[in-house]
Amino acid sequence: MAKKSSGGSHPARRCMFCGRGETEVPFLVDGLTGSICTECIEVAHGYLESLGLSDPKYSRNSSGRSSLPKQEVKEPSSLKPADMKAFLDQYVIGQDEAKKVLCVQVYNHYKRLRNNEVPSTDSSYVELEKSNILLVGPTGTGKTLLARTIAKMLDVPFAIVDATVLTQAGYVGEDVESLLTRLLQAADYDVKKAEKGIVFIDELDKIARKGDNPSITRDVSGEGVQQALLKLLEGSDVNVPPQGGRKHPEQEFIKVNTQNILFICGGAFEGLERTIAQRLNTQVIGYRSTQKQRVDKNNLLSYVSAQDLRAYGLIPEIVGRLPVIVHLDSLDKEALLRILTEPRNSLIRQYTKFFELDGMKLEIEDGVLDLIVDTALKNRTGARGLRNICEKIFSDALFEAPSSGKKTFRMTLDYARERLSTLEAC
Ligand code: ADP
Repeated sequence: MAKKSSGGSHPARRCMFCGRGETEVPFLVDGLTGSICTECIEVAHGYLESLGLSDPKYSRNSSGRSSLPKQEVKEPSSLKPADMKAFLDQYVIGQDEAKKVLCVQVYNHYKRLRNNEVPSTDSSYVELEKSNILLVGPTGTGKTLLARTIAKMLDVPFAIVDATVLTQAGYVGEDVESLLTRLLQAADYDVKKAEKGIVFIDELDKIARKGDNPSITRDVSGEGVQQALLKLLEGSDVNVPPQGGRKHPEQEFIKVNTQNILFICGGAFEGLERTIAQRLNTQVIGYRSTQKQRVDKNNLLSYVSAQDLRAYGLIPEIVGRLPVIVHLDSLDKEALLRILTEPRNSLIRQYTKFFELDGMKLEIEDGVLDLIVDTALKNRTGARGLRNICEKIFSDALFEAPSSGKKTFRMTLDYARERLSTLEAC
């Protein structure tokens, strides 16, 4: 493949990295679609070395994705709950109570895995039970973000599945086993790794049983799926189709044990506050009247209990398998403003970087951030709506910036208001 530069009448060969012609460099190495000179090879090697990736330990895994050297992967159990919270704080604003509970539970989960590896014949052996977690909170408050950040921190396989796409076996939709297919894929089909992963099941509230009478009719999208999920949450051997779905009947199943997989479920449980309020009211009348003053009516979700979830339509067995219930607060204006600017990958930091990569400085006038947050609050989309609003405001500027030749882009309040009103009118 390597060719020494040679004279001749064909078009001059050039290094596709530095652009120098074959007569200007010591040697050109040809690839399929271009050439690289020996000097650029050296620069590239130096760059890989600076990243610690020139070592043969740095390899490509079966999915073709590169993996970090083995010693850089943290043992999940080596992080203490306080370390975990400090890590989460970099990405997730507020939700302090939820973070604390989650960190303790995740820490215990991995401690439990180590403990249960001890032979059970040891007389001091105590088998620790798994605690799956349920996150309850309005949409866009960080449920998925928390679960995703925890998986990133621990470097364990992580899969997100929307409960609404799951159906009971035999009906149109995805079988519950498909969520393990995703976990296997995230683990590059390393079954042992997948068996210590985390699965986030979003929108659990959407598969709540409809109606009050559970026994007369079975509804496919609700109770049936809950029953099917139960098997996974309880911990059992599950035959998982490696490609997922039912389109590949010839595929051989892979057996995955769910005993040590941590399931984190999330849901907005809209209207649950009413059930909680009713229960609290009854309790107050029935037991201690002094309790009445202590109930924070603006934060009823913080009183959520297993009983409320059953009343909402989760079957008792599922509630039993989700012993840790964590509530997330709705995000107020101050929290949304912090979300825009504070996290390591906050939206404003990302836009600043986009402009910077075009050699431009982004300046944002006072009031623009308030406008973005007020619009999100008006739309009742929580932090989830912030990106969409920012896209509307910044998209034209990002289109024009690379060819404008300017050194600064100033986002004024008038410009932002105009962009929003133009697009809302469409
Ligand atoms: P949900 O509670 O509906 O699962 P998500 O976690 O998917 O909400 O949040 C949607 C997006 O909103 C996230 O990707 C993140 O950018 C932002 N976000 C939501 N809550 C927070 C938070 N507490 N801190 C930082 N960003 C947040």
